[in-house]
Amino acid sequence: MGIRITVVQGDITEQRVDAVVNAANRGMRGGGGVDGAIHAAGGPEVLADCVRRFPHGLATGAAGWTTAGLMPARWVIHVVGPNHRAGETDRSLLLSCYSGALAVADELGAGTVAFPLVSAGVYGWPRADAIAAALEALGSTPTSVVEARLVAFDAAAHAEIGAALSGRP
Ligand code: ADP
Repeated sequence: MGIRITVVQGDITEQRVDAVVNAANRGMRGGGGVDGAIHAAGGPEVLADCVRRFPHGLATGAAGWTTAGLMPARWVIHVVGPNHRAGETDRSLLLSCYSGALAVADELGAGTVAFPLVSAGVYGWPRADAIAAALEALGSTPTSVVEARLVAFDAAAHAEIGAALSGRP
């Protein structure tokens, strides 16, 4: 059975899935956007697990997991998207956030995974291409994950993702 890619509008921290993906930074000690929301909703156990499991943080394009603390999900899969605004424009790094997150989900046995639009916020990746990269990587990576749920924070992103999804072969 192949992966099903779905889209909802909402807050990623509230998703009832096995794992939620965090758009983290290399330091992995919290930040703004999705990262701030995940640490706020998950509570201090998320940061404690980041410190314990990732003493040196994570490289750009890499993925790793921690507990989800108080969130409904069981795990957070942290990925570090490329910072387009700072000149990191290598698209393969963005693709590897999605494929790497699916590989970690497979290790964990997570069947349902919620993703934000990695790099499309503070890191400034042009949104249309951030959506294209997400669909490309999620649709082409072999995985046991049954649902990859893209969580759009606002109505415009929701509509754009929906249009891109319905235009797929
Ligand atoms: P990055 O630093 O990788 O760009 P951001 O967290 O700044 O990550 O933004 C990534 C995307 O997630 C943006 O499209 C932003 O609107 C969206 N976003 C921010 N907060 C949330 C949230 N709580 N749930 C889902 N999406 C969110």
